[in-house]
Amino acid sequence: MSLADTVIPLHSATAGQPPAVPAGLSQVELTELVAAELKARDAVLVAHYYVDGALQDLAQATGGFVADSLEMARFGRRHAAKTLVVAGVRFMGETAKILSPDKRVLMPELEATCSLDIGCPADAFSAFCDAHPDRTVVVYANTSAAVKARADWMVTSACALPIVKHLKDQGRKILWAPDKHLGGYIQEQTGADMLMWDGSCIVHEEFKATELVLMREQHPQAKVLVHPESPAGVVALADVVGSTSALLKAVTDDPTGTFIVATDNGMMHRMRQLAPQAVLLEAPTSGRSATCKSCAHCPWMAMNALEGVLHCLRTGSGEIQVDETVRVKALGCIERMLDFTAASAANAAATTPPASGFVPNIGAA
Ligand code: SF4
Repeated sequence: MSLADTVIPLHSATAGQPPAVPAGLSQVELTELVAAELKARDAVLVAHYYVDGALQDLAQATGGFVADSLEMARFGRRHAAKTLVVAGVRFMGETAKILSPDKRVLMPELEATCSLDIGCPADAFSAFCDAHPDRTVVVYANTSAAVKARADWMVTSACALPIVKHLKDQGRKILWAPDKHLGGYIQEQTGADMLMWDGSCIVHEEFKATELVLMREQHPQAKVLVHPESPAGVVALADVVGSTSALLKAVTDDPTGTFIVATDNGMMHRMRQLAPQAVLLEAPTSGRSATCKSCAHCPWMAMNALEGVLHCLRTGSGEIQVDETVRVKALGCIERMLDFTAASAANAAATTPPASGFVPNIGAA
C-alpha cells in the first residue's frame, strides 16, 4: 500500500476510526504522508520563516511557499488550491481568509497566537480609537481581524515607513497599534505625530543592546541585522533594519559575509539554505542584562509541526472562520495598503533606502 492510499476522509478521526496521525512514523515517512495528503486534498502549505525547518522544506517541496505574513496571504489568494494550510500564527490565517474568503483556511494549531495580537483586544482598542477621532488609525499586520476592521490602514514592517510618511505629508495625525518599538522607529524616521498603543513582541523585545555591543566587538567584521520590533537601543546598533524579507535579502546579497541576526532564530533555516557560506550569529537575548523567556524563538510559531498539518488536513480541524461583516471591514484597510504598495512598486527600484538601512520590501513578522 502506498502512502497516498492511507488518505482517509475528512472528519473520520473519531472513536473506532484510525487515528488521524499514525504513531511511530519516521520524519521522512511523515513528510511523505503529509505531502500525499496535501495533493489528495487539493491543498497548499504556506509557511512563515519562523516555523520549523521541516515545515518550510515541505512547503517548498510541494509547490507551497515560505515567506513573511503578507506574501503568505498574497500567495494564498492567487494560488488555485481550494484549501490553504497556514503554518504560522493565527493572525496570518485570518489575513489569508480575509483575502481568500472562498477558500478553506486551515491551521495546524489554532492556539498559536502572538503577543502583539493578545495585547491589543478589539474592545479596548476600539475605545482608544473612539477617544481620538481626529487620528488616522494605522495597525500592524500582527492584529486580529476585529482590530483590522477598526483601522483605516494595515501596514507591515516594511511598508509602514512610506505609508506613515505619506499620511504625514497629507497632514494626518496617526493612532498607531500595537507594536511600540516598530512605531517608535517609524516615528523617529518620519517625524510623524503618532499616538502609540503599548504593545510589544516578546521575542524581539528580549534582544539586548549591552550584550550586542560586546558581541560586535568580538566579531568586528559582522553586519548587524535587526528587525524593527526590537528595542530602540538594539535598532540603533544595526547596519540593516528591516522586515524578515529585507534581512534575508541582506544575507543573500553578501553570501559569504558574517551577520549578527536580531530576529526569531527560525529565520536562520532559510538564510542558511540561501547563503550556506554565510556566518550567522544569533543576537544575544541573554547575558548580564538577561530576562530571556523565549530565547529568540516564538513559542507560538514553535507550536506548528508536521503532525499538526496532517491532523488538520485529515480531520478538518483548525479551520479559520472570520465573521463576514468583520471580514469586509478588515479587507478595506488591507486593500488600501495593497493599492498603495502596488502604486509605489514602479518607483521602488529607484527609491534610495534611508541612511538607517531600512530596506523597502513587502513583509512583516
Ligand atoms: S515572533 Fe513576536 S511578532 Fe512574531 S508571532 Fe511571535 S510574538 Fe508575534
